[in-house]
Amino acid sequence: MATSSSDPVVSIDNVRKEYQLGGTVTALDGVDLLFEPGSYTAVMGPSGSGKSTLLNLVGALDTPTSGDVIVAGENVATLSETERAALRGTRIGFIFQTFNLMPRLTAVENVALPLMFAEWTRSRRRERAESLLTDVGLGNRFDHLPKELSGGQRQRVAIARALSSDPELILADEPTGNVDTETGTEIMSLLRDANDRGNAVLLVTHERRIAEHADRIVNVRDGVVEGIEQVEHTTPAETEVGAVGTGAGQGATEERR
Ligand code: ADP
Ligand code: MG
Repeated sequence: MATSSSDPVVSIDNVRKEYQLGGTVTALDGVDLLFEPGSYTAVMGPSGSGKSTLLNLVGALDTPTSGDVIVAGENVATLSETERAALRGTRIGFIFQTFNLMPRLTAVENVALPLMFAEWTRSRRRERAESLLTDVGLGNRFDHLPKELSGGQRQRVAIARALSSDPELILADEPTGNVDTETGTEIMSLLRDANDRGNAVLLVTHERRIAEHADRIVNVRDGVVEGIEQVEHTTPAETEVGAVGTGAGQGATEERR
C-alpha cells in the first residue's frame, strides 16, 4: 500500500477492545486518535484506564475487538500473526516498564536482535548495536548480561534496542516506572533525542510530570479519550543551563553524558 510522508503514522478509528474474563471487561470504548510522523504524544490516565491496551494495539501485539488500527499503512486488525510480527520487527520500537530484555543475551546481542529482519551480516549488526549502545552511554557495557546491569542501564539497552531498526514509531509503556528519578530524567531525554531525530514517540504514563515531556497529552479514563492538550515547552529544554550564548540550540545531549 502506498503511503506518503504526510499520512499519519498511526490512525485509530472507533476502536473497542473487550476482554472476556469471567465477564466482559471493556478496556477501550470507542477511541479515535491520529499520530503524525515525527510527533511526540503522551497518553496519560490512571491505572486501569486502558493505556497499555491501546499501546499493545498500536504495537500490533494484539488486535481490536472492533474498529481499525492503521500503523504505517497496515491495518493491524486484518493482519495475520506473522504479518504483525514483521510489522513490529521493522516499523516499531518498544520500550517497556520491565525492560523485557532477553536474559541470556548480552547488551549488544539484545540491541542487535531487531536487526535480524534486516539482511545484514553479523559484523554489521554488531557494529550498529555497539554504536547505539555508545549513544545511550553504555559504550563500556557491550558484553554484559541484563542481570549484570542496573535498572537504568537495562532501560538504556532497551532504548538502544528500540532504535536499532530506525523505526518510524517508538512506543514506551511507563518507561520510567522501575527506575529512580534521576535515571528517569535521563531516559526521558533519550526519548526526546529520538524524537528530535524524527522518530514518532508514543509514551504511556500515569504521571503528569512524565507526560509533560511530550508535545501533546491525550487524557484517557475508563477506555475513553477525555481530552487532548498541547504542551507548551517555554524554554527549549531545562537541560540547556550551560548553553549560554553558544547559540547551540540542539547539542545538549553530549554534555549530559
Ligand atoms: P492501564 O495500562 O491504563 O493500567 P490496561 O490497558 O492494562 O490499563 O487495562 C485496562 C482494563 O482492561 C483494566 O480493567 C484491566 O483489568 C483490563 N485488562 C487488561 N488486560 C487484560 C487481559 N489480558 N484480560 C482481561 N482484562 C484485561
Ligand atoms: Mg499499563
